[in-house]
Order: sequence, then structure tokens, then C-alpha cells
Amino acid sequence: MSDLLDRSHGDWLLAAKNLTIESRLFVDGDYRNAASGETFESRTPRDGSVVANVARGDADDVDLAVRAARNAFDAGRWRSLAPRARKEVLLRWADLIREHTEELALLETLDVGKPITESVRVDVASTAACIQWYAEALDKVYDELAPSGNRALVTVTREPLGVVGAVVPWNYPLIITSWKVAPALATGNSVVLKPAEQSSLSALLLARLAVEAGIPTGVLNVVTGLGPEAGAALGRHPGVDKIAFTGSGEVGRKFLGYAAESNGKQVQLEAGGKSPQLVLADAANLPAAASAVAWGICYNAGQTCNAGSRLVVDRAAKDELLPQVLDVVRSFKVGDPLDPATTMGPIVDQQQLDRVQGYLRIGQEDGAELIGGARLRPETGGYFLEPALLDRVDNSSRVAQEEIFGPVLSVIDFDGVDEGLRLANETAYGLAASVWTSDLRTAHRVSRELRAGTVWVNTFDATDVFAPFGGFKASGAGRDKSLHALHEYTGLKTTWIDLS
Ligand code: NAD
Repeated sequence: MSDLLDRSHGDWLLAAKNLTIESRLFVDGDYRNAASGETFESRTPRDGSVVANVARGDADDVDLAVRAARNAFDAGRWRSLAPRARKEVLLRWADLIREHTEELALLETLDVGKPITESVRVDVASTAACIQWYAEALDKVYDELAPSGNRALVTVTREPLGVVGAVVPWNYPLIITSWKVAPALATGNSVVLKPAEQSSLSALLLARLAVEAGIPTGVLNVVTGLGPEAGAALGRHPGVDKIAFTGSGEVGRKFLGYAAESNGKQVQLEAGGKSPQLVLADAANLPAAASAVAWGICYNAGQTCNAGSRLVVDRAAKDELLPQVLDVVRSFKVGDPLDPATTMGPIVDQQQLDRVQGYLRIGQEDGAELIGGARLRPETGGYFLEPALLDRVDNSSRVAQEEIFGPVLSVIDFDGVDEGLRLANETAYGLAASVWTSDLRTAHRVSRELRAGTVWVNTFDATDVFAPFGGFKASGAGRDKSLHALHEYTGLKTTWIDLS
């Protein structure tokens, strides 16, 4: 990896030019065109040019992929292997991903505009690490023996669910895929993956590497296509046992509907957030808070489900904190994501850019004061935006309540811990939150009262695969990551053996 991190802008431009891009579906171990022969254009947010014509899978292709996945499952090609054998294959897959860091990072950067250094250091590295973690975990998990006494032997075992449909968004295509596919495969399921239309390419290479590593054909399939076509067909397919979804709440709720209309399949949702960074008057280290607040909204151009998009700050700390936040925000270098010096790339596509700019206007109409937020580098054809801060935001206004999914920080002020806590919790979402304080009792009380799946104290976005991730309220149900995710892809079986 280190040689990749030493590369220049010119090196990456050349590598991008020479990159071979696969854009067909991956079903039953092979690439193939969509049954209809249709494709859709995938444009790079760097300059708006077409990088690939991607197979536009529809219900026929989903059906083929689900059948391949079901056949592989029923034949026991993967689930019946000894845990140690599955572990070795998954470890090989993680190694192959590391060996293909250059291509995977380039695909991710071209497709969604992530700075290349982050694609290398974070996205590809975390994907391999996640798969490795579940590989290492899978042969260390024991089942249960129930307290049945001597007249019966009652075992409680975890069984794979069968065919899992993974539907993922464009903001972290590889990482979020690994959060779903790694525990699903570790527990012996087959998977049909539907990437977002903005970010199909890295998944297609990932699947080929899985087969190269020894994952039997049919166990991991990728159907690229549009949400209302391929996504809906997967959600409605009677042969799918579970949907694992990350994306918007609106689409997440559609999957609950698809499940209800079809076979009542399980649905796990991670559906975004409006995460507060709650800075109390006694926060000891304001420079650290300022840095975390800025990174929490600028990283990945704010296109992060747990982005710290609301700064909820005590008026006693605000005047000192805000200039420091702005200093860090202004230190982000917005530019070509293939340039290693870039720390903030473009917004993913024109539609999302329009949406984010629309929210800047809405915020101002509602009385907020806008700092930043200018369109940058329009001459490139790319979708670049200066990070923005909306000050004096009312917590009930739209820019405080709706997920913007861009580098836009809404600043809300208050007096005293109780008001701050109330405002932090006054959101439909419950994905993540932070509290900044120097008092241990306050930290403990407030972190318990914050209604969020992850609460950080005096830090933000600290994360690792061992920590569960997911939300309360409209942010969804179920958890990615950690050993708990293994339970998301298994069902309990009771076996009662009469010994009387
Ligand atoms: P989305 O919810 O529209 O898409 C997520 C996934 O669902 C994609 O794979 C998409 O193809 C699929 N999909 C879309 N419409 C579908 C439908 N009708 N039936 C079945 N599947 C469908 O998210 P998006 O378009 O990527 O972004 C829209 C908004 O969602 C963003 O502005 C942001 O607020 C939010 N979002 C949240 C996350 C997150 O991590 N929670 C990620 C991306 C976007």
C-alpha cells in the first residue's frame, strides 16, 4: 500500500487511463450482459464524463441470480464446508483485495469521487480488514446447549438464513458491502448484491476476486441496475430470505413494503441520520472538538450516514469554537480526487449537488446565515462544492431535520446541558451522536440519554469492525459490524433429542 501512497497526480491519471473496467453483471461465477441487453451510463463526478456503460439488470436477471444463489445454498457448496475451510477462503479473499488495491481504489475514486488517498488507505483497506475479521471470527463462535436436564439433549444452533439480498448505497460502496457480505458469507449464506447505480464498478471486481479466492460459484452474485428495477425485483423476490439495506429512509421503507407484498422476508435497515455533535460549556479541549466537528461534516464531502451534520453548541462555548471549526473546514483541499493532495472530492452526481445546493437556499430562506457553499471548479465539469456552514439554525427547520448528505453543517445554539440534550434528541433519526464535556458524570448521564446507536464522548467517528453500527428510530433496525452482525444472518434452530 505504501508505494501507492507515494504516487503523484500524474501517476494516478495514467493508471486511470490504463484501467480495465468490467461493467457486466456477475452471476453464477461469470460476467454476463443483462438479459435485455440494456445498459446505463455511469459518470464520474470528477468531470461528468462517462466511465462505463453498466449492465442494466432487471427482474429477469435478479431471478437468475437468486436461482444461482439458491442452488449453491441448497447444494451445500458453501454452507456445508467446515468453518475452518470457509475461514481460509475468506482470508484468501481479503488478501486478494489487498493485492488489487490499485484497481479497487481507482474504481471507487472514479465512480464516486473519493480522494484517491482515502480510497487506498480507508476504503480498500477497511474492506479487506472487515472480511478478514469475520473470517477469523467464524470458527470461534459456539452454539448452545439448553438446560434441559438428563431426559433430553436440547441444542440451540445458528443456521444460515439462505439467500441474502444486499442493497447498498453509493457513499461507501466497498465498505458497506463488506459489512453485509462478510458476515452473511461467514455464516454460510448465499448473497445477491445490488450496488447503487452511481457505484457499480468496485463490486464487480470484488465478486470476481471472491471466486478466485475459492468462494464457490453462485454463492456471491452481483446484479447492477436501477433501484426501482433491479432493487425492487430483489426486494419482491420470493426466493430471497433477507434484505440487508443501507440508504435513504424512503427507500428503506419501500423494502418493508416489498417484504410484506411477497414472502415476509426479514429486512434490516440502516437509513441515515442527522447526528448531533453536542458541545457543552465545560468542553475541555475546544481545538479537538473543532477538528472533530469539521472532519465530521467534511469527510467524504459530508456524504456519510453518521456525518455530524448538526453542531449543537452551548452559547458559552460557541464564540470560541466556531472560528476554530471554520479554520479546519477551510483547510480542506477541494480538488481532483485523483490528486493525492485532495482531501475533499466532488459530490457524487449532478442530482445530489442540486439537492445540497437546494438545502443551502432553504436554510437561508428559513433565516440561517450561510458561510461558504460556493460551487467550485465548474470549468472541469465536475460536481465540486465548497463546504458550508449554516449558522443560527432553528432545530425545527428543514436543514436541521432532513438528511442533506453533503458538506453542510447546521449550527444550533442553546443554554445549559438540559436544553442541549433536548435539542440533540429532537430529530427523527437516531444513528450517532457525540458529547464534548470535561465532567465524567455529565458524560455518563448525557451519553445514556442520547438516543443513538453510537455515542462518542470527546471524540467523533472513532470506529472499528468490532463495534456494532446502526440506529434507533428512523435510522433503522439491526446492526452491521461486530459479532452481533453474525446473528443478523442466522436463525436459531432448536433440536430436542429425547433421552428418556
Ligand atoms: P437510495 O436510498 O435511493 O438508494 C440506496 C439503494 O437502494 C441503491 O442501491 C438504490 O439503487 C436502491 N434503490 C433506490 N430506489 C429503489 C427502489 N425504489 N426500490 C428498490 N431499491 C431502490 O439512496 P441514494 O439515491 O443513494 O441517496 C438518496 C439519499 O439517501 C441521500 O441524499 C441521502 O440522504 C440518503 N443516503 C443515505 C445513505 C446512508 O448511508 N444511510 C447512503 C446514501 C444515501
